[in-house]
Amino acid sequence: MNRKKTKKQEGLALEPLFEGAVKRPLVIAGPCSAETEEQLLAAAEGLAPLGVDYFRAGIWKPRTRPGNFEGAGFEALPWLRRVKEVYGLRVITEVANGEHLFAALKHGIDAVWIGARTTVNPFSVQEIADALRGLDIPVFIKNPVNPDLNLWIGAIERIYEAGIRRLAVIHRGYSAHGASKYRNKPLWQLPIELKRRFPNLPILVDNSHICGERSGLLAVAQKAMDLNYDGLMTEVHPSPDDAWSDKAQQITPASFGELLAALVLRAPSTDDEEFRNLLEQLRSEIDEIDEQLLDLLGQRMKVAEQIGLYKKRNNIAILQAGRWEEILRRAQMLGEARGLSLEFMEAYLRAIHEESINHQMRVMNEE
Ligand code: PEP
Ligand code: MN
Repeated sequence: MNRKKTKKQEGLALEPLFEGAVKRPLVIAGPCSAETEEQLLAAAEGLAPLGVDYFRAGIWKPRTRPGNFEGAGFEALPWLRRVKEVYGLRVITEVANGEHLFAALKHGIDAVWIGARTTVNPFSVQEIADALRGLDIPVFIKNPVNPDLNLWIGAIERIYEAGIRRLAVIHRGYSAHGASKYRNKPLWQLPIELKRRFPNLPILVDNSHICGERSGLLAVAQKAMDLNYDGLMTEVHPSPDDAWSDKAQQITPASFGELLAALVLRAPSTDDEEFRNLLEQLRSEIDEIDEQLLDLLGQRMKVAEQIGLYKKRNNIAILQAGRWEEILRRAQMLGEARGLSLEFMEAYLRAIHEESINHQMRVMNEE
């Protein structure tokens, strides 16, 4: 029996996003925000020859803090329509409520996406779902800002239950406390789990909002392709350094063309490829976990330094034998419950403890 066929029958009863939507990667590109009509047309002129499937531009920009450019609003809808008329590109924008949705539809917008700050709120998602009832328009749902898979799934279910069958998701990463090389940590295991639960739901990577800067855009897009994502959403601006929002992460149409050309796509699926995909997914989970472990170790050292400062102020010695015994006993117990051998736990803790002491030493000996 053809395994692929059975797989296709599972999951949501979806329809293609648009006629002939078969190529991989599916590409959404365009500026973060619609600034002026000229800016949109300039971006579209550069993107049209690259075969993008949707031209994106935010009109209503949800900003985390006030005082940033909040989008041109309703005024920009006719600009997007111009892009469509002049360059024949499908256009997509972000909607955060029913009013946005209806205005977008009235102006011939071809598809909409729900942003990360909206997906996080079931009231808002339900309002959009209610507005979508009876309509047939492709909807792309970004992951919520926080790493809560059920919140993402909840949004998918609400929109699906409203009757939307042209549906896809966009992985844009997660805001997280603590230093990271990403603006939004990808936490690949979450979209991987989503893909496992909804195998036929197209998934795109928003490499721009994951990276937050230009470097790394290709690596993140490539990783997504290696994980068998269906496409990507990338912010492209005719003059990125002058952008009114998210300028650090936007690239020119020419650079975007180079990025697309550099992407390596795997051969069509075979059973063997399924195995390779699985291996890739598992390796990616391991990389992600290793990064998290290192983040935590970094945090642990910071705490050790604080203790060092405190000891210095109170004139207490670094090493306290009782404390080391206590750490060891506790960790051996915790390790055992997780299937980790005593030898491993001891070696692991010794290494961490030594590093921790070195950090304490450093702060205690600093003037
Ligand atoms: C955007 O795509 O410009 C945007 C605001 O993204 P997100 O909702 O992922 O933050
Ligand atoms: Mn943006």
